[in-house]
Amino acid sequence: MKILLLGKNGQVGWELQRSLAPLGELLALDSRSQDYCGDLNDLTGLSATVRRFAPDVIVNAAAYTAVDKAESEPQLARRVNAEAPAVLAREAKRLNALLVHYSTDYVFAGNGDTPWLENDPVAPLSVYGSSKLEGEQAIQASGCSHLIFRTSWVYAARGNNFAKTMLRLSRERDSLNVIDDQFGAPTGADLLADVTAHAIRTLRQQPELGGLYHFAAAGETTWCRYARFVLEQAQVAGVDLKVTPTMVGAITTEAYPTPVKRPNNSRLNTQKLQNAFELRLPDWQAGVARMLIETLEK
Ligand code: NDP
Repeated sequence: MKILLLGKNGQVGWELQRSLAPLGELLALDSRSQDYCGDLNDLTGLSATVRRFAPDVIVNAAAYTAVDKAESEPQLARRVNAEAPAVLAREAKRLNALLVHYSTDYVFAGNGDTPWLENDPVAPLSVYGSSKLEGEQAIQASGCSHLIFRTSWVYAARGNNFAKTMLRLSRERDSLNVIDDQFGAPTGADLLADVTAHAIRTLRQQPELGGLYHFAAAGETTWCRYARFVLEQAQVAGVDLKVTPTMVGAITTEAYPTPVKRPNNSRLNTQKLQNAFELRLPDWQAGVARMLIETLEK
């Protein structure tokens, strides 16, 4: 099997390099790749890459993910998140290849307290959310074989993440206040990558399983409770903290304004994914605890 991976150095892309490698011949690109164009801002180059490599599977982990900045760069966000996936879908259809793509709970209005289902009405609040929705719709309209995973609250061991920021701040500062009215489930890039590899293999045997799936770790939390969990784990590991878990203050979204309003409800109902691929998604705490052990051991 020939696999083309785009966005190889992002949180999910990095883990996909590991999880896709055993499946076949992997060509992994980023926007700076030289031999093949991996720049989603270059639609002609992107299409030439797919035609030349002729993959059986295209996995698109590249995206314009700067949520606030997208408001001032809507054209670039749209090119990368909507037009480039449309090109990939067109080329996948031509080759009869499978296209795997990632999307977000930001396609929803973010209200209520029920986990979103795949067919719930969409109503993005931001340029980022709209551009990601447009990308999904282009793939669906193309008629190519596809898997779209809508996920949320992604973290990775590599690079910066929320947990590492909380650890640093709790050692540096005397107090810490964190938003307690946004709900979701922290989802590891490693989990996304491993399940992606499993789903690609399953789809080879059962192509009828293609489609749109919600994908997040099990359970739910808020950023504040997530922060407290991180600090509890750090304490158990013997880390000296100035701000202990019980000292973390709970604040509302209004108290921490951002240029783009974040959804209060990022919960995703993942039953469809678990049933289709015979999976059981682990509780979010398991992945976060594991990532913290790796972080704290360094
Ligand atoms: P990252 O921001 O970690 O990675 C995105 C990657 O895309 C980066 O490596 C970036 O490279 C690359 N990229 C940006 N612009 C281009 C371009 N023009 N050409 C090629 N590559 C480009 O994101 P994640 O790994 O976290 O996200 C993976 C997917 O999951 C995305 O589709 C995202 O929308 C979705 N998602 C993410 C969530 C999250 O919490 N992070 C939540 C919900 C969904 P560079 O840094 O060099 O620009």
